[in-house]
This record gives sequence, structure tokens and C-alpha cells, in this order.
Amino acid sequence: MQAEIIAVGTEILLGEIVNTNAQYVAKLLARFGIPSFYQTVVGDNPARLTETLALEEKRSDLIFLIGGLGPTPDDLTKQTLAAHLGRKLVTDQAALDKLVAWQKQINKVMPANNLAQAYYLEGGQVLTNEIGLAIGCYLVDADHHYFILPGPPREMLPMVDHQVEAKLAALTGSKQVIVSKMLRFFGIGESLLADKLADLIASQQNPTIATYIKGFEIGVRITARAGNVDTGNTLIAPVAAKVQSRLAGFYTGEGEERNLVQEVVDQLKQQHLTVTAAESLTAGEFQSELASVSGASNIFKGGFVTYSDAVKTQLLRIPAEVIAKHTVVSAPVAELMAEKSREILGADFGLGFTGVAGPDELEGQPVGTVFIALAQRDQPTKVQEFHLAGQRNEIRGRAVYSGFKLLYD
Ligand code: ATP
Ligand code: MG
Repeated sequence: MQAEIIAVGTEILLGEIVNTNAQYVAKLLARFGIPSFYQTVVGDNPARLTETLALEEKRSDLIFLIGGLGPTPDDLTKQTLAAHLGRKLVTDQAALDKLVAWQKQINKVMPANNLAQAYYLEGGQVLTNEIGLAIGCYLVDADHHYFILPGPPREMLPMVDHQVEAKLAALTGSKQVIVSKMLRFFGIGESLLADKLADLIASQQNPTIATYIKGFEIGVRITARAGNVDTGNTLIAPVAAKVQSRLAGFYTGEGEERNLVQEVVDQLKQQHLTVTAAESLTAGEFQSELASVSGASNIFKGGFVTYSDAVKTQLLRIPAEVIAKHTVVSAPVAELMAEKSREILGADFGLGFTGVAGPDELEGQPVGTVFIALAQRDQPTKVQEFHLAGQRNEIRGRAVYSGFKLLYD
């Protein structure tokens, strides 16, 4: 079984309203594990709606038509589907009674076009409207199932919750579940990452693989349809292992709602270790990120922002001769920044950040050149040179994340 959603309404095409109805139905389909590969928005135009129906019937068996059930001349969804399928429109007596009662209440003579709200397609089943006047309809025609739903979300949502959902449950037999896992990576571009997974992505069926940008990280989401969560996880596991091994070295953890900073803070907390930093180009952003995670006070007591050469000498006691000899954007200066900050505060780890954020180059070093060092208690200091791309603040942000990655590894 495969489903498609058609939202009908010129106001959606014009960007006046957001197609939240399609989103709502799409989530329901996902919950039932019903694949859905297309969503369409069509204006209030019978010819184009007919064209769309003809196309969708070729590729899907479950078709949702949302909107255009009202009384105005532009509301033609039921009429168009009826004409397309060669079916009559018939009046639902209960809906008509409700319409008449309502008109009486507001003391008006009912315009003839209002009757359309009580129409459904002959042979179909009425979906009652708890809130408004226009009824929906469920129809099986040849191999296709149609759900016709009203446009106003306050009318559509209860109809979906109370009537459509039960029909989908009956249609699918058992409730299928969607299980997904998000793996995160850093330090590789999205296109190169996709390249490394190209064959897996090309041959995907169940589970499927999709990549997302998540701040400075890239997420790879693996999604499986299955009868239950355990089976879903069993389908995901081997694919996740393959993805991880292809992208070894870039992995930064798992989980959509988490990020590399949280991973690092959690690791340090678990191991009862502390971290500090001396930051030049990032000017405290690394420390600020650390502090953004709740509970950071356990692992972070304080640190240094040493933007100018003079302050590096004053606060960290980095010899001016070292800076003069190697230039400030250099591995030896990053190492000293990391080591001195760690020593002064007695932390387990110290990081040193020095680099050129731009827009101008510095002492002959091109924009994006960054040295990050990691000093550790009783271990040699590591230093890494980066050539980061992007605007000034992008370079600073990437430098911060590169520091977290050093620490994570
Ligand atoms: P009405 O009886 O109010 O005319 P209708 O079934 O004919 O209802 P539409 O005319 O298509 O529905 O839309 C009525 C209103 O419902 C829109 O102006 C908009 O506020 C909302 N609406 C319609 N379609 C959507 C959608 N896909 N997503 C979110 N809101 C929608
Ligand atoms: Mg309308």
C-alpha cells in the first residue's frame, strides 16, 4: 500500500497558509508504516485537480484529498472527484438536517450552493464533521481508496483522529511502527559524506537512509518500518554499523536531540574529569558552549579568553619570544595555551585555540587557519592544524566544534 496527499487550495500555493494538514496526515501515515512518496498542492482548479488525480492513481492506492469542501464556488473537490470517477454526488440526510437547522438558527435563507456541504460520493461512506458543516467522505473505487477531508484544521483533525485513523488501522491489519536512529558526524562535508554512503542510499528500501545538517554536525537518519520496535531495531542495526564504519573518525554520537557538546560534557561527568581552555579566535565560545549544557559546573570551573598577544603573555605566561618566533597562529602557541591553562587551573584537560577568523589574513596566515591543542594530565599534548572554510563566525564555530571533537576522541 502506498499513499499520497493532495492539499487543495490556491491560498497554499500563494504562501498565505502553511500546509499543516498534509503534515498531520503524513505523520499518521508514518505511524502506520504506510509509505508515502509524494505530496501535492493544487489550486482550486478542477482541470488541474483532475490531472493530478489521474497521475496519483497510477502510483498510489490511498489518496487523501484535503480542502475545498465548503460552500463557495471555488470549493470543488467532491464535485471534481465525482466527475473524474463518473460517480454521482448524493446528499447525506443527517448533514442536510444539520445545515437546515443551522440556517434556521442564524435566520437566513440557505443559498443553494450550501447544499454541497452535505454531499458525498455515491457508494462512499460519510465522514461526519464534528465541528463544521461540510462532511468528508471515504470511498473505495476499483483499487483506490480515497479520503476526502475538510480544509480547516479544526475540522480536519478530529475527523482524522476519530474516523480516518480507525479506517487505516483496519486497512493495514496490524499497526506498523516506524523506528529510526540518528547517527551524527562532524568534520566531513555533507556531499562527501553522502558520497561515502552512495551505494547504501541508492539501494535503500527498508530501512531508508537520509542525511541532514544539524548545526555543525551532519545527521544520518536510518528509518525502518516493522511490525514492532524490536524488529525495527534489528533491521536498523546492520545498516547503522555499516554507516559508522564507512565514516569512522567523524562519528560524534547518536540521537537527534543531542549534540557533540552534550556528548563531551556527559563523558567528562561520567569520568569525573575537568576541562578548561584558553581561547584566542573563539574568544570564549568554547567555554560558553560547555556552560550551555546543564550540569557543566561539575566539569568546568573557568578558563581564559586571551585575544591579544599581550594578554596571552600576561595571563598565561606564554613567553613573548615564542610568539615572536613562531607567530601567534602556530602549533607551539596553541600547545602552550592548552598547557598553561590546564596547569594554572589544575584541570584534567586544557584546550588552546588560536587562528585566523578573517576577514583579513594574519601575519601571512590565510583566513581559516586554526591550531587547536589538547593538553592532558600526564600525557603528551596533541595539536592539530585546520583549514576551515566559511565566514568569520562560521570559522569560529567550526573551530569550537573541532575542539570538542578532539576532546571527544
Ligand atoms: P470551508 O468550508 O471553510 O471553505 P473547505 O473544506 O472548503 O472549508 P478550504 O476552503 O480549502 O476548505 O480551506 C478553508 C481554510 O482552511 C483555509 O482558508 C485555511 O485557513 C484552512 N486550510 C485549508 N487547507 C489547509 C491545509 N492544507 N493546511 C492548513 N490549513 C488549511
Ligand atoms: Mg472553502
